[in-house]
Amino acid sequence: MATSAAITILGSTGTIGVNTLDVISRHPDRYKVFALTANTNVDKLFEQCCEYRPKYVVMVNDASAEQLLKRLHDAEVVDTEVLTGVSGLEQVASDTEVDYVMAAIVGAAGLLPTLAAAKSGKRVLLANKESLVMSGKLLMDAVSDNNATLLPIDSEHNAIWQCMPQTESTRKSALATQGVTKILLTASGGPFREIPVERLSQVTPEQACAHPNWKMGRKISVDSATMMNKGLEVIEACWLFHTNAENIQVIMHPQSIVHSMVAYSDGSVLAQMGNPDMRTPIAHALAWPDRVDAGVEPLDFFVVAHLSFEKPDFDRFPCLRLSYDAAQRGGTAAAVLNAANEVAVAKFLAGDIQFTDIAGVVSSVLENATIHEADSLEVVIQDDVWAREYAMKCIRDVHSK
Ligand code: NDP
Repeated sequence: MATSAAITILGSTGTIGVNTLDVISRHPDRYKVFALTANTNVDKLFEQCCEYRPKYVVMVNDASAEQLLKRLHDAEVVDTEVLTGVSGLEQVASDTEVDYVMAAIVGAAGLLPTLAAAKSGKRVLLANKESLVMSGKLLMDAVSDNNATLLPIDSEHNAIWQCMPQTESTRKSALATQGVTKILLTASGGPFREIPVERLSQVTPEQACAHPNWKMGRKISVDSATMMNKGLEVIEACWLFHTNAENIQVIMHPQSIVHSMVAYSDGSVLAQMGNPDMRTPIAHALAWPDRVDAGVEPLDFFVVAHLSFEKPDFDRFPCLRLSYDAAQRGGTAAAVLNAANEVAVAKFLAGDIQFTDIAGVVSSVLENATIHEADSLEVVIQDDVWAREYAMKCIRDVHSK
């Protein structure tokens, strides 16, 4: 690579953002930080500004942006401009100086800047699965219409991508034409794979966030515990790999060493393996089609010793079934599922509802939703807003019981 790639990291203060900066720091000759963004975490963004000296930082929250500005001024960091709001995020995602955008904001808040990056023809490194779940068609169209490149950061989708035929057509055509018969999406099962089902209603947010293999943000940790995360990943894979949910099989694999697999018509199954460390898929997507050091411990099969695989239990994990149902329903069903889940997870993390209420809320919202064609941003956002309001109503009903 002759010149280094300029990178915007949307959500730089989160776990994916921090891991991305770690990989970038190992290769100053290849990558330079153009912009960093956060919502409210002033301390972390200030620290990152001092270390990486980006051209821009975006603090979405106005009051936090004021604080950051003062901290930077006091520290005489004057070469970084502070922007605010969603417009700031869209600006740094689409700036002509930017080559790569790491989309690592959590939840629906990631949608608009991710779309802006795709519309500007960037290499988009997609961690923010919610944007694809909400508006898969719009995002995939924005990528192809503007010659952008979409590379998956989710470890499973990155693994699938690595196991797919490495041809240009992989990005555009149906799997069957390339001899692929099934995508095998692995799932650790999270922290509650084995506890008695009747105890699930009593688990705490701290227990739900204590994932056995991965260190992640709180929202995705809860999603992993309910297996909604796997459900969102099924929908994400449908869009990324041009297929239907029936062609995606979830396989429980508690060790999180096989990150996913692809089965072919001649009986071959290709798997991508590695230690559970997000720096691997991040480095893969940053350097693709090259390979670079990610700082990840090499996989030692004698230490791992044992790999196991099981069928998922849809009764223990109702969110997984709800996701398959939403995928099959199509249209805005996935956006409704995602919005209801975001509200329910936030309420669970705040201690307002029980863990088992999450699936109940999502299920009620989907049952009562009118699903539309997801062919415009306005319709997607309108159904997202409706689902959030209806989820709040369901939560009030839970409380009044
Ligand atoms: P974190 O919660 O650790 O970080 C979220 C980031 O988004 C933070 O920078 C946060 O800023 C920012 N943010 C939160 N709300 C808003 C908002 N309203 N507007 C703008 N920015 C906002 O999440 P993760 O890093 O764990 O996950 C990020 C995304 O990556 C998610 O979509 C997740 O599903 C996906 N992902 C994560 C994996 C992981 O291992 N962590 C694996 C695969 C996918 P602030 O710090 O100020 O709150």
